[in-house]
Amino acid sequence: MDDTSGQATWIEIDLGAIRANVRQLARSDAQVMAVVKANGYGHGAVAVARVAIEAGASWLGVARWNEALELRRAGVRAPILILGAVPHAVMPEAAAAEVSLAVFSAEGIRAAQHAGRQVGRDARLHLKIDTGMHRLGVQPEEAISLAERIDVEPGASLEGVFSHLARADEADPAASLNQQAVFDGTLQALSVRGLRPTYVHLANSAAALRWPQMHYDLVRPGLAIYGLQPSSSLPLGRDLSPALSWKARLAQVREVPRGEGIGYGHTYQTGERELIGVVTVGYGDGFRRWPGNQVLLGGRQLPVVGRVSMDQITVRLHPGQLAEAGDEVVLIGTQGNARISAEALAEGWGTINYEVTCGIAPRVPRLPI
Ligand SMILES: *Cc1c(COP(=O)(O)O)cnc(C)c1O
Repeated sequence: MDDTSGQATWIEIDLGAIRANVRQLARSDAQVMAVVKANGYGHGAVAVARVAIEAGASWLGVARWNEALELRRAGVRAPILILGAVPHAVMPEAAAAEVSLAVFSAEGIRAAQHAGRQVGRDARLHLKIDTGMHRLGVQPEEAISLAERIDVEPGASLEGVFSHLARADEADPAASLNQQAVFDGTLQALSVRGLRPTYVHLANSAAALRWPQMHYDLVRPGLAIYGLQPSSSLPLGRDLSPALSWKARLAQVREVPRGEGIGYGHTYQTGERELIGVVTVGYGDGFRRWPGNQVLLGGRQLPVVGRVSMDQITVRLHPGQLAEAGDEVVLIGTQGNARISAEALAEGWGTINYEVTCGIAPRVPRLPI
């Protein structure tokens, strides 16, 4: 493992956990598209993509052209689908790089066909159907004519048809089942015209874990490959484990007398003589400026006291707790018998685990272990 002794704060990515998670997901009947957008949900896109492909994923999913380009430049040859909108100007480059595109309008299809003809290589298209999410997508009744247009005009080929679920992580499956029914109706109409493409896909992590009948040809897990939980009503089970730990260091421990204010604005006052530790992480690293944070030091949970600064936080040690400058502090992960999950941090911040790991700043190095 890379040396962490020179780092103020860093994240450790357990690539073995990602490998095991992908293997587990790849045991299903469908192929796996490992979703590595947003720098692999903060885990490091290239490292995760390589491990996921080794472990049995056959596709990679990203949101943006620059994310696909990063993978291609790193030598990743596996099929890549850009799930989001792509500016028409980069479609020729995408076609040349054999990166598949999501399309959701007649104009987008025309631009992709034009791009394919320009570079002499068919653009590979996945037609996105809006089955109820009402974000990107074509109306189900438009799908046939658009698929026909891709089929008959030169410059592009229809490689996939897909949709996305709005409420797969909720206890009540009704909304997802409705979306699936709309999707199935569209697939049926495509099939009778001989337009059903090779890759039909619908399921994100939550749906892939819950509903085998939604697997079709390909599943698109993001969260699950990182061992993150889709929601509190959908525990992951013991088969999948988290890959990311976020750590920092104790910079100094000081005794502060009773009644003194700590940090900016003196928002915290010592109630007695207290041991205050300074830890090298702050909101400039993505550790939010939010009251109520906790960290682990010496295997024990400690409260963050006072304001979170850009590069530092202050924590209150237990009376008499032994600790010294350089000691490891855990923000996400385990230490001894104590654990702070990305889900717990998200709950404190009033958000979801996705935003916690995506929000760890680029200046924090990602170290594979
Ligand atoms: C991000 C994304 C996924 C992965 O979602 P998870 O909930 O992380 O599994 C799947 N499909 C699409 C279209 C996405 O944008």
